Amino acid sequence: MRIGNVRGRPWLITGEAEGIDIHEASGHRFGPDLPALYERWEEFTDWASAAAGEPAGFTPADLGAPSPNPRQVFAIGLNYYGHVQEAGLEVPTEPSVFTKYVSSFAGAEAQVALPPGTVDWEVEIAVVIGRTARHVAAGDAWSHVAGLTVGQDLSERGLQLAGAPPQYSLGKSFPGFGPTGPYLVTPDEFADPADLELGCVLNGEPVQKARSTEMVFSVDVLIEKLSRVTTLLPGDVMFTGTPAGVGAVRTPPRFLAPGDELVSYVEGIGSIRQTFLAADAERSGS
Ligand code: ZN
Repeated sequence: MRIGNVRGRPWLITGEAEGIDIHEASGHRFGPDLPALYERWEEFTDWASAAAGEPAGFTPADLGAPSPNPRQVFAIGLNYYGHVQEAGLEVPTEPSVFTKYVSSFAGAEAQVALPPGTVDWEVEIAVVIGRTARHVAAGDAWSHVAGLTVGQDLSERGLQLAGAPPQYSLGKSFPGFGPTGPYLVTPDEFADPADLELGCVLNGEPVQKARSTEMVFSVDVLIEKLSRVTTLLPGDVMFTGTPAGVGAVRTPPRFLAPGDELVSYVEGIGSIRQTFLAADAERSGS
């Protein structure tokens, strides 16, 4: 099934830009608070598999982040072989984990003010947790996943790599730097949720394209390794790393500029779209 955040409320998506409001269709049993849905994910999906209602329409601009207010956000660096290679680095022997602060979250159609510097793109598959995970083995990991969505790990490279040792999280957490969407798609919807094409297109030109089988640490292994240390909570979001094709390692380097349009997609989920504004657009409130 596909779940959307339509104007802050959970909807069951039934067609192209069409769905049913879960709070209304369930007789107020679930919703309208979206984060609370993940706390009762199994109960909710049992109900939703037989849910019926009169579909209503919405537009992409109505779609917020599928998990808009997670308690924890994990992001994995250097997790595709092609990206490790283009960066000229060693393949990690343990996942490189950082966070994106949740105030960077946005929905499917965000406008993003570009801070001064070098802002780069990173299409990623984002995982949303649906069941508390603590010491979960890889073989049991997917049963803890509510679903997958499309993510962009927008990154200001100067700040990301400043200092010794560098910290990644701040340079990846400007407002609008963590868009996800358009929907959460449950794992059972995919022939194989661990083998999906993902990519992004900048002003109509494809710049990243890969399959998720190229991950260094697959989703199930990441859940095993993270849940050995932390407790993964319902609604938590994990950005699982980006494939080759980022701008910083190109010759010459290429970064996002005001007026650019970035479309990111994952097979079987859909696409999200960001447009970029000059840095002063945010401060002047325009
Ligand atoms: Zn990333």
